[in-house]
Amino acid sequence: MIKKIDHLGIAVHSIARARLFYEEVLGLTCERVEEVASQMVRTAFFTVGETHIELLEPTGPDSPIARFLAKRGEGIHHIGYLSDNIEEELDRADEHGCQLINEKPVAGAGGKRIAFLHPGSTHGVLTEICSKG
Ligand code: ZN
Repeated sequence: MIKKIDHLGIAVHSIARARLFYEEVLGLTCERVEEVASQMVRTAFFTVGETHIELLEPTGPDSPIARFLAKRGEGIHHIGYLSDNIEEELDRADEHGCQLINEKPVAGAGGKRIAFLHPGSTHGVLTEICSKG
């Protein structure tokens, strides 16, 4: 079952530059910066109530985030929904003909397991399902 919106993923060219907006203008605190090798990204997390903002910076030219930035520029990249059963969400999405980017969960930031649904089958929004541990 989907429990809440866990985070919004925002693609940025540089966490070092973008974090200044979140820290100095919005007054939020950066909790951690973490590299996620499987996704070729560096992430920075800010907490807003029960939800997080996840800044995503590419770690190389082949990173999906680098391709996103080249095509669309900086901006909202994905919505991350927290589920207590990620396999169940993927099975249901598959049964409804959604295109799964990850058929099985992969390792995400913060020790979470994550899987993405393709924006072509979610009305234009890259959709991440994540679960704790
Ligand atoms: Zn995410």
